[in-house]
Amino acid sequence: MRVALNVNENTHVIPEAAVTDIVAALAVAVRGVNRYPDREFTELRDSLASYLGHGLTPDNIWAANGSNEILQQILMAFGGSGRSVLGFPPTYSMHSIIANGTGTTWVGAERDAEYGISPATVVRAIERVDPDVVFLCSPNNPTGTPLHLDTIAAAYAATRGILVVDEAYAEFMPDGQPTALTLLPGRERLIVSRTMSKAFAFAGARVGYLAADPAVTDALRLVRLPYHLSSLTQAAAIAALANAPAMLAMVDDIKQQRDRLLIELPKLGYPTGLSWSNFVLFGGVADPHAVWEALLEQGILIRDVGIAHHLRVTAGTEAETTTFLEALARIGA
Ligand SMILES: *Cc1c(COP(=O)(O)O)cnc(C)c1O
Repeated sequence: MRVALNVNENTHVIPEAAVTDIVAALAVAVRGVNRYPDREFTELRDSLASYLGHGLTPDNIWAANGSNEILQQILMAFGGSGRSVLGFPPTYSMHSIIANGTGTTWVGAERDAEYGISPATVVRAIERVDPDVVFLCSPNNPTGTPLHLDTIAAAYAATRGILVVDEAYAEFMPDGQPTALTLLPGRERLIVSRTMSKAFAFAGARVGYLAADPAVTDALRLVRLPYHLSSLTQAAAIAALANAPAMLAMVDDIKQQRDRLLIELPKLGYPTGLSWSNFVLFGGVADPHAVWEALLEQGILIRDVGIAHHLRVTAGTEAETTTFLEALARIGA
């Protein structure tokens, strides 16, 4: 595939200086792989707490092989048979898939117009469903829609259950926008989930993590498999986090390409909503499958997320984004 813009990866490779550090850390770790890894991944939790800031300590941090495993562990601990999880489709497809896989009943509730969720909407759904777990995705995938903190705070106040805010795309939010991390103090049932897959360009390494009250991380210790994070994963992630500024240097470029998509797609006849992530959902597509296939024939892979008359495209490098926009213009609305 010439241009892969279908799964919201960071399409930039990681910087050479970071590669050198990661390889050096892996070389040390390999010499110790006859031993089991640090099952408490203390140094990694320390690095993640420093990266997140907000006064978080290693006791607030948990990590796993991708945030998908984080979400699975959360539902193993707090969901399961006879329990329910509330979500707001269209949203990240893995939320309901992981619910099903853990035997947790998935209940979908409606969003407002333009895919937003107001405090009143979230409270009404929670009062109707009385879920054990609530999943909110901020910004939302596949729509890119921001979620305001007042909705998260209202959801927390309304539910007796665990509230999970999936912030996989937090680093792509506009500068200075507060994250759900700011709501953690005093909210011991709130979990903020993050990943190194997107902004850190680390999708292949499989590192997801969360910040929450230490009682939450203690509950996850009961369901994780022993030694679930390999010493190679831990070493690579620690070295990558030590290079955070370089690893995140491409985020601004990607945000520029996302903003370019938000400007150019409507000019081509494809309206968009607001996006605070590294992808854009665009509408006005008469036949999404036909457009998806016409792009594929030109070596460009994007995503048909199953929303009528819409397609989703990841912001790529400047060259990839240009290739996509030019091909789409040729296909016509
Ligand atoms: C991509 C994505 C993830 C990341 O999953 P990993 O398992 O960490 O690669 C999590 N949540 C959402 C909403 C995503 O779009």
